[in-house]
Amino acid sequence: MAKILIVDDSKLIAHVAKTMLTKKGHEVMLAQDGKAGLEAAKSGQPDIILLDLIMPVMDGYEVCQHLKEDETTQEIPIIMVTSKAETSDKVKGLQMGALDYVTKPFDEAELIARVNIHLKLRELYQEVQEQNILLQEMANRDGLTGLYNHRYFHEQLSQDFLRARRYHETISCVLLDIDFFKKFNDTYGHQTGDVVLRALAEVIERSIRESDLAARYGGEEFALIMYHTDKAAAIEAAERLRHMVESHEVKDNGNVLQVTISVGVATFPHETIHDAKELIEFADQALYKAKDNGRNRVEAHEG
Ligand code: GH3
Ligand code: MG
Ligand code: MG
Repeated sequence: MAKILIVDDSKLIAHVAKTMLTKKGHEVMLAQDGKAGLEAAKSGQPDIILLDLIMPVMDGYEVCQHLKEDETTQEIPIIMVTSKAETSDKVKGLQMGALDYVTKPFDEAELIARVNIHLKLRELYQEVQEQNILLQEMANRDGLTGLYNHRYFHEQLSQDFLRARRYHETISCVLLDIDFFKKFNDTYGHQTGDVVLRALAEVIERSIRESDLAARYGGEEFALIMYHTDKAAAIEAAERLRHMVESHEVKDNGNVLQVTISVGVATFPHETIHDAKELIEFADQALYKAKDNGRNRVEAHEG
């Protein structure tokens, strides 16, 4: 069952079409002129529109044009309603974005068949679009943790850096690495290592702001982008995360695992940072300093 809008100034034609379509279980809305048709399309969001071409005040072509210009209605399939003689009109309508036409007086079987074809095509098209969105999302994600992946992080940070530079915004990059992660793998096996990585990803997601971005940067290294966040605030957020990780017990197969992380922070604007690459490099240097200074700590780029 679908929602179908019929735009026709002839009450008789509209009524005949409505009867045929209602019999097939469709819900039918009627509009008697182009303007009312446009409004009904916007507010009612029909699955398909049957559009008469010759109407007073606003004809079908103009309705078609408005429907195609409006983001909320441009994807709704349009079937023109024409009389047999109007061949050049059909062509014009098709050029303006209508997908098909039916001729008056209606042949019931033909009307139903054409409506069904376009409903089916619309359904398939919507499925493909949903799949595309899903695939795109999957391509940006890390399979183990569900966080964004390395490639997406770099793409995003490059764009965000340019925006921050242009609009004089503050942006921080945080890199963190699990301390002595190898020992989890070596002591309990690779699967336990994976459990630790997933658990850390969850703690990260809980600790950061919704507007911030978290990615798995490499094996047991993670990266964050913190927007509108200056150095002091980024250090505070990193310290809060470090503490949450330290106090979070990861349980696996009866084992309780204590995980700690070392964290490096770099913030733009800073006189030594000119691009996204340098921002990451300085966060990485700060991370190394955190490792050198004893691990389970936060260090920031001083410059
Ligand atoms: P440090 O404190 O200096 O960071 O020591 P570490 O042991 O954490 O660092 P190291 O770089 O020596 O070891 C990282 C280990 O992470 C080595 C690698 O086998 C493991 N690893 C990388 N990716 C994965 C993964 O996806 N799953 C698991 N289980 N282990 C991984
Ligand atoms: Mg490590
Ligand atoms: Mg590492």
